Amino acid sequence: MKNRKLVIISNDALVKEDMDYLLTKPLFQELVKKGTWVKTLKTIYPSVTYPCHTSMITGCYPNKTHLYNNEREEWGNPLWVWERKYNRVKTIIDAAKEKGMTTANVFWPVLGNDPNIDYNIPEYWSQTPDQPLTSALKEMGTSDKVIEEIVKPNLYYIEGHQRQHPYADEFVCACARDIILKYQPDVLVVHPAGIDGKRHGTGLFNAHVTEELDYTYYWMEKIIRAIKEVGEWDNTDFILTSDHGQVDIKRWGHPNILLVKAGLMTLDKDNNVTDYKAYVKSLGGSAQVYLKDKSDKEAYDLTYKTFMDAKESGLYGIERVYTTAECDMEEHLSGDFDFVLEFDGYTANGWEPFGPYFTTFDLSDYRTGRATHGFLPEKGPQPSMLMIGPDFNEGVTIERRHTLDMAATIAKIFDFNMPDIDGKPIEEAIKK
Ligand SMILES: [Zn+2]
Repeated sequence: MKNRKLVIISNDALVKEDMDYLLTKPLFQELVKKGTWVKTLKTIYPSVTYPCHTSMITGCYPNKTHLYNNEREEWGNPLWVWERKYNRVKTIIDAAKEKGMTTANVFWPVLGNDPNIDYNIPEYWSQTPDQPLTSALKEMGTSDKVIEEIVKPNLYYIEGHQRQHPYADEFVCACARDIILKYQPDVLVVHPAGIDGKRHGTGLFNAHVTEELDYTYYWMEKIIRAIKEVGEWDNTDFILTSDHGQVDIKRWGHPNILLVKAGLMTLDKDNNVTDYKAYVKSLGGSAQVYLKDKSDKEAYDLTYKTFMDAKESGLYGIERVYTTAECDMEEHLSGDFDFVLEFDGYTANGWEPFGPYFTTFDLSDYRTGRATHGFLPEKGPQPSMLMIGPDFNEGVTIERRHTLDMAATIAKIFDFNMPDIDGKPIEEAIKK
């Protein structure tokens, strides 16, 4: 193996239908001709960004990564699992580091404070209105060198517009470009999220989403141009992929209200939660239910009965109630929760413990927008992947694989040691 480079860009919530649109444009026509296109990918359950990206970069299901929500699990804790320490399994970055390769990241989730990343700008944001992004990123392991040489020159794109698109993606892709131009790392992972953001705010397919795809085209062009400029394009395995699709939503249910009605959660006169025996953490299309005391059999039985009755009634948008054992066996999903609720494909769920059970849009949160994800992986349009480069076959089209198979394919090509991997190498894609 000569000094091969690897660049992975995961455009959040990009689906096969988007790829069909992008393939009407010259750069993507060239990419698909020169590479392997996996038309659709099956993702993991829950189809939520942080668990999905952790499974993509490890090739392992959530029952190994222990990464099964964007947020931490305690009731009312709004913090996300930004740091590498939350994932229990080896990543392709860890494996690359073992081989002495240089590594870089721009906004790939769950990679904060990762000691194996040389140039790291992990997905994170200011934690208070006064905190500058540069100080936030330093907290998550961005070095002074990267702050000065990459972040600061591009800060004007995102300043005042954190977590808003197209500003955030303009920043992410400009940082990726400059990392390539300045450091030429052996491995670079990048995660733009504008397509996902537009879908949450405006729905699955519409002119706003198409506009975001046009921006995405231009950003991909910018990154590829940088790789060509440093003379590494013919030596780079370049992967464009995605983590999940989305589903258009008609209504939002709030399952904690059912726990209040069952006496499993109590509120004061101002509707603040005073105590609970169980609570629901929303993931948009699904939810995870936690017992406060895992040895409380009575609370377990009542919680299970409450949600099974709700499912049977057909009135609450709940399609399935999984026990942890069922979820582990059928979907390779386990964690510190006690049940999983799957919603019906047009109902998403929120967190309120009071008020009407069904509510309308709340665009301030990804779980209650006009479209969302988190459902079982088969629901809605599916993610898609292009693999181009010296180690990939040209002009090959594959109908369907799993998102876990990307890491397995890379591990095979780069001879990475990843013994726990669940994914399988995509043999038809690999040049012999
Ligand atoms: Zn996502």
